[in-house]
Amino acid sequence: MVNTKRLLPLLLLLLAFGGFVVFVILPTPSSFSPSSLEFYALGTFIRLQAWGKQAPKALEEAQKTVEDVERRFSRFSPLSDAGTLEQKAGQEEHPFSEESLFLFSKALEYAQRTEGAFDPTLGALTRLWGIGTPEERLPSEEEIQEALTTVGHKDLQVFPERGTAMLARKGQIPDFGGIAKGYAGDQVRDILKSHGISQGLINMGGNITVLGNKPGGAPWKIGIQNPLEPRGAFLGILSLSGTSVVTSGNYERYFEEEGIRYHHILDPRTGYPASQELLSVTVVCEDALEGDALATGLYVLGLSEGMELVENLEGVEALFVTSDRRVLGTSGIPKIFMLTQGSFTFETGR
Ligand code: ADP
Ligand code: MG
Repeated sequence: MVNTKRLLPLLLLLLAFGGFVVFVILPTPSSFSPSSLEFYALGTFIRLQAWGKQAPKALEEAQKTVEDVERRFSRFSPLSDAGTLEQKAGQEEHPFSEESLFLFSKALEYAQRTEGAFDPTLGALTRLWGIGTPEERLPSEEEIQEALTTVGHKDLQVFPERGTAMLARKGQIPDFGGIAKGYAGDQVRDILKSHGISQGLINMGGNITVLGNKPGGAPWKIGIQNPLEPRGAFLGILSLSGTSVVTSGNYERYFEEEGIRYHHILDPRTGYPASQELLSVTVVCEDALEGDALATGLYVLGLSEGMELVENLEGVEALFVTSDRRVLGTSGIPKIFMLTQGSFTFETGR
């Protein structure tokens, strides 16, 4: 027992001299108490949790890496690689780091897989709409058509053998906003693993990656946002081990004008926010990068085409939430999903 009577004069003495005492109790990393880190980057709150001795060091390194991803791919910074691609568009190939070329190639790969529904060259459109920024507004039809002329994923040219990349036409603007967060999530996962961490939770807005199982051995339970309710209200739960879950939806960032919602997932074919037949798409697969690109692309493709695409992809499952309150899962979903919100129905298949 601490003798408070004996401590009191000491405290009074310290206070009298204007000093103050701060007790920092550092948690000892153990299998029961995770180390955690929260910060803001890539336009979202990021929460990392990891179990293990090396966790504090690994999390610190992870934060630096996420901030580096933001610096390299931010569409808001002329100094980023995205900015360089824009400045050199239609002029010349430019050398980029191996990691940047990897991200460009992946963006291109998912643009091809989704037949252009995911398109990393629609930067002129995102800038025009400005959704989620103070400049957001409903552009004129003319402005949209003009921006649309600069969109085309085939114009993103990547030359890994020469270590260069470029956008083929002048005026083209890249946008890696639909994939950078997923890429960063995979980087964080790899850093944690390289520090010997086998249990952890990476939460980057709508993107979640779990490492291993929960301490104790049960799968992680991940709530799927009810798109019609405030943040934190779930419509169902996924049970997962060592995988990523990425959700894209029309409720994440939007503005409303005359009763119409204009949300931040744009259809590269029309230049307007994608059809809102779907409220959200959740993708479950190993890499958050794949999940991120696909969730955005599938949202644009819509239920029927999206479902068909995922059923043909190895190691990918998806949940589609429709505006008429149906939740539709691909064939592997029933094993891992439980609907908890009675106002929705759950079914599999098309
Ligand atoms: P969030 O970033 O909110 O998790 P997404 O992963 O769906 O959501 O990414 C949306 C962002 O991706 C937009 O803010 C925009 O920068 C970009 N984007 C919007 N539509 C598309 C699209 N069809 N293809 C590729 N990127 C897109
Ligand atoms: Mg995405």
